[in-house]
Amino acid sequence: MILKTKGIPQFVNTFIVGIISINVPNKNCILIVTDLDYLPSIDLSDVKAIITPDAIDKISIDSTPIIYSVKEINHLNNNDIVVINTNGVINTLYREHSNHNFLFLTERCNSNCLMCSQPPKDKDDTEYFYNINSELISLISADKCDSLGITGGEPTLLGNFFFSLIEQLKKNLPNTFVQCLTNGRTFAWSNTAEKLNEINHEGLLLAIPLYADVAEIHDYVVQAKEAFNQTVNGIYNLARYNQRIEIRVVLHKITIPRLQKLAQFIYKNMPFVEHIALMGLEMEGYTPFNLDKLWIDPYDYQEELKETVLFLNDFGMNVSIYNIPLCLLPKELWDFSRKSISDWKNIYFNECTKCSKLTECGGMFKSSFKKHSNYIKAFIN
Ligand code: SF4
Repeated sequence: MILKTKGIPQFVNTFIVGIISINVPNKNCILIVTDLDYLPSIDLSDVKAIITPDAIDKISIDSTPIIYSVKEINHLNNNDIVVINTNGVINTLYREHSNHNFLFLTERCNSNCLMCSQPPKDKDDTEYFYNINSELISLISADKCDSLGITGGEPTLLGNFFFSLIEQLKKNLPNTFVQCLTNGRTFAWSNTAEKLNEINHEGLLLAIPLYADVAEIHDYVVQAKEAFNQTVNGIYNLARYNQRIEIRVVLHKITIPRLQKLAQFIYKNMPFVEHIALMGLEMEGYTPFNLDKLWIDPYDYQEELKETVLFLNDFGMNVSIYNIPLCLLPKELWDFSRKSISDWKNIYFNECTKCSKLTECGGMFKSSFKKHSNYIKAFIN
């Protein structure tokens, strides 16, 4: 699935966020004109910008910002929200008919996880992403958006901008469930948890990774000293204010050996968490470069996963398995498996076409072509 395309910009002096409308001008829309021959008959007075696959020399344009000669536009639909940039790049920010929309807040991060799928970049993009997301939130239709993610980088590094966006989400999309991926370290400082509490967004859930019950292993996985203590303190500070919390554990060669101990740690010390997600590895970002440290075939950790999931479930914790196809799970765990992979990076192999569990199975990441289990095998009945 395509979420980015590019053309040649003219009169685009700053980024422009707008709602796509195809061939019909609406107030404040970004108008896709599939054939510039029709442009003279279109009233452009309320149009923010134009996107067209045509070459501009076909017709003269006044001062309306335009991206022309755009190679690919078929992925853009009415009511999608996009940002067009001064370099001609058009990024899709929101798709009305998808359940996998997210706000991307920053490329910066204070951790540097061995399996990070979006390796951090140390540049100050704070204001740029704040402004884009602020406009995006104002354009999303509240009655059509059940859920929204927040991701990065580490979103809380936006500081006050982060809290401002949470406030805007509460105000503009009060019934939308918001899941924020954060390493939780910022909340080790109790004033940040307090600030979140003041906003009091009941639809917000903080999804926080914890990779071991001991600091050395967690800190090694996230490549940051003191991260374990900060994350645990952050979780406690958030819990003090009754914030909704999910714990996330990525399953790989470093986390598997203490997985059961970690489950016991969470049960004993964090019984207040709303959900625990145990997640298969994505072959993106740093992961392919750290395969020797990380790779273990999910088929080979079935026993550890089973004991962990059943332990948490037996003790009343809400636990799910993400990103692992059914053929790699023991049958006792199928009820815990969720279709968790975002639609734009979710695939099935040829083998899956003959599988009787295809409609129930969550499949694989697109990146699984780089490395995947040797045990992907169709169920025949
Ligand atoms: S063969 Fe494919 S569809 Fe069937 S369980 Fe495995 S991954 Fe899922």
